[in-house]
Formats: sequence, C-alpha cells, structure tokens
Amino acid sequence: MPLILTVLGTASPHPQPGRPCSGYLLSGGGAEVWVDAGPGTFAELQRHIDPARLSAIWISHLHADHSADLLSAVYGLAYGGMTPEVPIPVYAPTACAQRLAGFFGKADPAFLNGVFVFEALYDGHEAHLGGLRLTSRAVVHDTEAYGLRAECDGAVLAYSGDSGPCAALGELACGADLLLCEADIDRHREREQPQVPLTPEDAGALALAAGVRELLVTHVGSPLTPESATERAAAAFGGPTATAREGDVRTVGRGERNS
Ligand SMILES: [Zn+2]
Repeated sequence: MPLILTVLGTASPHPQPGRPCSGYLLSGGGAEVWVDAGPGTFAELQRHIDPARLSAIWISHLHADHSADLLSAVYGLAYGGMTPEVPIPVYAPTACAQRLAGFFGKADPAFLNGVFVFEALYDGHEAHLGGLRLTSRAVVHDTEAYGLRAECDGAVLAYSGDSGPCAALGELACGADLLLCEADIDRHREREQPQVPLTPEDAGALALAAGVRELLVTHVGSPLTPESATERAAAAFGGPTATAREGDVRTVGRGERNS
C-alpha cells in the first residue's frame, strides 16, 4: 500500500486566504494521520477524510501555527457530530492536553477523554499504525519540538517540523524518498540563537547531506515567497525540488513520479 502525502496548509506564521498554516494528511498501511494542526487545516482535512476516522494525530510542537486547530477538532469531534468510535491518539509534546483544556477554561483535560487520548512524544518515540511506522526525533527549536520519519512498505517521508539545523534532522531524513522541509527565514544573520528555523539554503543542504530523493519546500515565511525559497533550496540541493501547495497529493516511494 503506498504512502501518500496530502498538503493541507503551508503558511507561516499566520493563515492566509486559501492557505492555512502547517498541516498534512499522511495515508499509508491502512492508517490516516493528521500531521500538524495549523489554523485552517481542520477544514481542509474534511475535504479528504471524515476526521472521526483518523488513526492518529501527530503534532510537531505547540506553537499555534502548528497546533491551534486541535481546538477546532475538539469542537468537531465532541460537539459537531463527528464522533469517533474510539478516542483518537494524539502524539504531541507534553502539556498539549493542558494547553487545549485551557481554551475551555478547564485545568483538568479529562473531559477530552472521549475524543482524544494523548501520548507524550519523546526523542525516539515510535508509533505503529497498521503498516505505517512513525518515528519522532527531538529537534532544535525554542520550545519542545519534534521531526518525523514516516515509513510504509519501503517508502520513507521525513518532515522537519520547525527546527534549526541539527544532527537529528539529518538522521530523520537519511535516504528519504521525500523530505518535507520548512524554509521559514531569509538569512542566517537573523539567527540570533541556534533554535531559529531553517533558511532555504539550510533546507537544500540538509536534503543533499541526507541523500534524499526529492525535497518539498513548505512553511515559508516573509519576506521569502514559496517560489524564491524553492529556487534557493533547489540551488543548494542540486536535486529535484518542489514547492508544497495546498491540495497537493503526492505518492511517496521509489519509482513514483509527481508533477
Ligand atoms: Zn515553531
């Protein structure tokens, strides 16, 4: 069964018309996983799947542009009739449940038990969902953050989340068929601290060093444009490079071609 990536949203740091923040649907091995819940992505998710059928939700970190639509999901799943048969596992950094409960003015997240079951991520966390294996690695950011390696029937997708350059990113991306990588900032001189995100050149260098087959550029912040970031990342990588676009559906794996 193929590994399929559907792009729900790519914007940074705020949603734009027709362009939600970070979010993806990953399908493979009989599993369907919502990867990052940026604002606007819960609506886009519904174009592709009944959210009640999700096998799991995976959250890279708790910055709002990657996680705030968990709130929309609670409304849909708990109050909107999209009732899951069993609570949906949410793999996320510690305190995700408490953060979400806070939006409802509650200190105890137990009221979410009917829709979500939270599982804290850690460096090296693995989840097996049917034939889909998800491996999480701690990456460098200004909050607890993870990158993801998804493997299904020999196909490998790596996702940077938000991260500065770090060894874990290279390990996650090693030999991947597709590296879905943020390129959020324009210049290195903006990097006052090492946890500031990647430039397009960083993304391209990561793809080259990790020997990935294709680079997909996402989460591009101003003053960059998706086009300029992709061009710069491609120059640093020297291999196939594309811009992630809302609605893109890409089959990941050897011999697969996406246009
Ligand atoms: Zn972030």
